[in-house]
Amino acid sequence: MTFPANIAVNAERLWDTIMQTAQIGATAKGGIKRLTLTDLDRQVRDWFRTACAAAGCSVTVDDMGNMFARRPGRDNALPPIAAGSHLDTQPTGGKFDGIIGVLSGLEMLRTLNDLQIETNAPIEVINWTNEEGSRFAPAMLCSGVFAGAFSRDFADSRTDREGLRFGDELERIGYRGGETCGAHKLGAHFELHIEQGPILEAEGKTIGIVTGVQGMRWFEVTVTGNESHAGSTPMQLRRDAMLGAARMIIAVNDIACRHGPAGVGTVGLVECRPNSRNVIPGEVFFSVDFRHPSDAEVVAMEDEMRAAIAAVAAETKLQAAIERVWDSPAVRFNQECIDAVRDAAAAQHYPAREIVSGPGHDSAYVARVAPTAMIFVPCAGGLSHNELEKTEKEQVTAGANVLLRAVLATDQRFADRAGGG
Ligand SMILES: [Zn+2]
Repeated sequence: MTFPANIAVNAERLWDTIMQTAQIGATAKGGIKRLTLTDLDRQVRDWFRTACAAAGCSVTVDDMGNMFARRPGRDNALPPIAAGSHLDTQPTGGKFDGIIGVLSGLEMLRTLNDLQIETNAPIEVINWTNEEGSRFAPAMLCSGVFAGAFSRDFADSRTDREGLRFGDELERIGYRGGETCGAHKLGAHFELHIEQGPILEAEGKTIGIVTGVQGMRWFEVTVTGNESHAGSTPMQLRRDAMLGAARMIIAVNDIACRHGPAGVGTVGLVECRPNSRNVIPGEVFFSVDFRHPSDAEVVAMEDEMRAAIAAVAAETKLQAAIERVWDSPAVRFNQECIDAVRDAAAAQHYPAREIVSGPGHDSAYVARVAPTAMIFVPCAGGLSHNELEKTEKEQVTAGANVLLRAVLATDQRFADRAGGG
């Protein structure tokens, strides 16, 4: 080991940094609204670039806006060992989702500087663009391009609900970088994240050793009927898109329950047109999110949903168009990276358990092109994608310490392997 046995991050500095950047897009309820590629996203990116430069790092940006802050090592021809996550948030997001992964990475760089530790490979911190997918679907868009799951043209063509294009917005905020997305090689990738579920807290564990991510598919459904007057159109002559959509939404819930307890299904976004109290709805748009640790079960849920929606549409004389906008297969992380997380937690005597991630993460895509694992820390009540999202300072510190140690141990392991032949 070339790093001190008791190595730890500066807990105060990390917490202060989290609270400081939480002011960028701060909401009245204590959360953050910092949607991807908005002016607030640009502001936090500018802050991140400045902070990394102050820590002696060079920052490069690829053509999807992914940011890579590099601290040189002894052998800069080696691919870097990276810590990555995201600084964008949901419209009513919290202070921790994604953010602690990037800022603990920054704290890792600062700690290495404080202790004057020279790593073998370069160490990098990555801010992935548009993890949340709230403004531009699908989620994890730019780690997806990085891993070859999506093309750059596909990403650029994504539009928000106002019709603004991803590519145009990326250029508007000045973060279309010169490096081709995906050309940047990584030796390994670690991501610290809040669990966004209740399991660690319920079991009194500080660290989740994440072994993989469950499979998921997203759909967009547009139901079309006929707008007409609410006072003069008899019930039997109506083609009410809202009524059909309501029955389809219940069907989505029933399908997920049939595939439970591991299967989950959610309709979280509904738009009704014209959305007027005395007009029978002519068009309803809604999203569907299905997840399960088994890919075969996700496929079955999709098949059942398509059949159920077709049946409701036929009965209610409506048209229903279903678009699958995202397919993310279940992921198993790299065993050596998982072990590095486990060893790091054990070395610091943090109570830990293995866990499969329910939510998707950038690491799910990065795992396709680099050895990857994740570290979870608890969040109060399992609450996330919520302004009241809360993780204690001690828990964030523990996660950052595990991240630091896993990265350093991996760097050491690669060096030993190269040296040992
Ligand atoms: Zn996240």
